[in-house]
Amino acid sequence: MLFTVLGLCLLLVRPAPAQTAPDAPAPEEAPNVILMIPDGFGPASVTMARDYLRWRRGQEELPYDSLQVGSIRTYASDSYITDSAAGGTALATGTKTYNGAVAVDTSQQAVATLLEGAERRGMSTGLVVTSRLTHATPAVFSAHVPDRDQENRIARQQLRKDIEVMLGGGRRHFLPQSAEESDREDGLDLLQVAQDRGYEVVQTASELNQAEENQAEEESLLGLFSPGHMAYEIDRGHTRQPSLAAMTETAIDRLSSSQDGYFLMVEGSRIDHAGHGNDAASHLRDIQAFNQATRSALEAAREDDNTLVVIVSDHETGGLTLGRNRNGEGIYSWSPEKLAGVEASSGAIADSVRSIRSAGASSSVKRKRIKGTLTRLTGIQDVPTEIVSNLMEVEGPYAVGNAVSPLVNRHALVGWTSHAHTAVDVNLYAYGPGANAFVGHHDNTAIARKLANLMNVDLEALTGTLRAGRETQ
Ligand SMILES: [Zn+2]
Repeated sequence: MLFTVLGLCLLLVRPAPAQTAPDAPAPEEAPNVILMIPDGFGPASVTMARDYLRWRRGQEELPYDSLQVGSIRTYASDSYITDSAAGGTALATGTKTYNGAVAVDTSQQAVATLLEGAERRGMSTGLVVTSRLTHATPAVFSAHVPDRDQENRIARQQLRKDIEVMLGGGRRHFLPQSAEESDREDGLDLLQVAQDRGYEVVQTASELNQAEENQAEEESLLGLFSPGHMAYEIDRGHTRQPSLAAMTETAIDRLSSSQDGYFLMVEGSRIDHAGHGNDAASHLRDIQAFNQATRSALEAAREDDNTLVVIVSDHETGGLTLGRNRNGEGIYSWSPEKLAGVEASSGAIADSVRSIRSAGASSSVKRKRIKGTLTRLTGIQDVPTEIVSNLMEVEGPYAVGNAVSPLVNRHALVGWTSHAHTAVDVNLYAYGPGANAFVGHHDNTAIARKLANLMNVDLEALTGTLRAGRETQ
């Protein structure tokens, strides 16, 4: 009787199958998989994006709201709070490891990734990000190193994996030391190596379009659109960089011609960076860019009926919350509309402040110029004197940007508790064949295991092969 009641409860709490195909595919028909990772995107970030949409367009639904199936916990082997390397390694390999680890276990031994498993099965694969391509999240799918800072080594490994599409930033790790933009410590020209291995290399949005038009079937595609990270979405208009959605669409277009299916990882990388900077408007705009990419992925999945889309963050960043005290009193509101007037990231505003500070002018003129710049770029008329005073004094690479952020946060009644990540659980969404396997709350390592099952990939066996073949050098 107890079992019957329990069974009934389980039936009742199963999500409505309306938008997900109820049955996992037969073993021989592994679905295409698009794994979308909004880096540093916690539950409050979801509410922020939805409230903004309600204010702006009277709409309630984010593209993935109806696909929420659960949540994950994100801790690392050595800390309650994960970094993106350990969090990503869990998502990519199913292995719990230490902060800084890139697809290696706690003994620094390589562990196989979903992308490697997909390649081994003959699937096509892709990585699309807005960070450097060698940054933690893309790296954990495509390289094995004991320390995430070994980005030059990561770049070399990435080019050996036969990944069909790689799009993002981070050109500096692919250029030889002699090049001005280079961050390599050797003469390796990895753009040349990529071309020798059959990659078409593109560096601007228009070159990406061009490549899309004259697509040569046999060619793989490497797009490196900036020396470091790509621009924040809020600053992107001043660059020649493609949007995350455009990169995602190109990748899906290319990969879906594969006869044997594909695995694509798409990361909204800079959602996290804006969280680190407590920069609410940039955080929101990068979430919107990610949402647009998600719409494209879901559209492709709805069309072909054999694509599983899983959306999950690696951790929360910044301890974001909506609502805060004002003059010691709690306020039952926050103001998404105040984020609409912000026209630049706090980092870009900080650059303007720095150039005002370094120009030859009296202190009072500089203060006036800083105040004017803040008003012009944030839409806030009554800039408090203490923010201007602070901006006249602070030093350090992130300190100026961090001194800009409180202006908008106080105005919009947005709170942050940290410039780092936090330990809170993050949401999990799934659509398509096998989506029901993701219902519930899981450890972050469960995601890779479930995906590997659905893709008929044996991660443990592949890990053995990797270690035997020393494919990790
Ligand atoms: Zn992260």
